[in-house]
Amino acid sequence: MIDSHCHWDFPEFDSDRSGQLQSLAAAGVSHLLIPGVEPAQWPRLQALGSGHRSAPCQPLLAYGVHPCWGEPLQLTENAFKTALVQQLQTGAVAIGECGMDGSIEWSEAQQRQLFEWHLQLACDLNLPLLIHAHRAHNPVMQLLSHYRPSAGGVIHGFAGSPELAQQYWRLGFYLGVGGTITYPRAQKTRRALAAAPLQSLLLETDAPDMPLMGYQGQVNTPARLPLVAQALADLRRQPLSEIMATTTDNCRRLLRLAEQARPA
Ligand SMILES: [Zn+2]
Repeated sequence: MIDSHCHWDFPEFDSDRSGQLQSLAAAGVSHLLIPGVEPAQWPRLQALGSGHRSAPCQPLLAYGVHPCWGEPLQLTENAFKTALVQQLQTGAVAIGECGMDGSIEWSEAQQRQLFEWHLQLACDLNLPLLIHAHRAHNPVMQLLSHYRPSAGGVIHGFAGSPELAQQYWRLGFYLGVGGTITYPRAQKTRRALAAAPLQSLLLETDAPDMPLMGYQGQVNTPARLPLVAQALADLRRQPLSEIMATTTDNCRRLLRLAEQARPA
């Protein structure tokens, strides 16, 4: 299995990282896809990737600016794009985390501009996108329909209706399935992810956030990915083996892992 979205570079996971990767591999997790959140973090992410390149559970990297980290940056379009392209060239499988968030103070117009810069680079470089869309599905959908990025991407931590899920999938975007589905009150999202084609789904933990039911108040970890897989199997009444195999294939296809997993 592949954890398609976890912030494993965060300090919560500082102790015995090699040991964690050993245990993850033993639990059937082959890769962790770790998104960028801000330029100051990118070099740390790069170092983490090179430090564990031959680990049995391999970190894969993406670079971008999360909308919640965007406001303090005073970057011009040129400076931003140049910096991001340079960073992507150090070895990345995707662009992100990027997107829009309607629950933060930062203005929608500025969020939109920063997201558009990511979209433009994704189109230019033909790289998939890791998208954060929280209380901002309308503007995000509108921009995705406008740019139609060729390599697609994933709406990470998808929460929403079956209709919304279908619209994203038709635009070429996978849906990231995380701990949200373990909560009975998340009825709409559970219905959406039960009805969506299995070919459209990726597994994720969003660690250290998005705790599974029963683990609230604890740091979420990629080690809980098998529990997300089991919850999805229960929800869809499909065999766990099929859930694991298909979501893994989906993620490999999105990230073109055979070609790109080991950058030079
Ligand atoms: Zn995230």
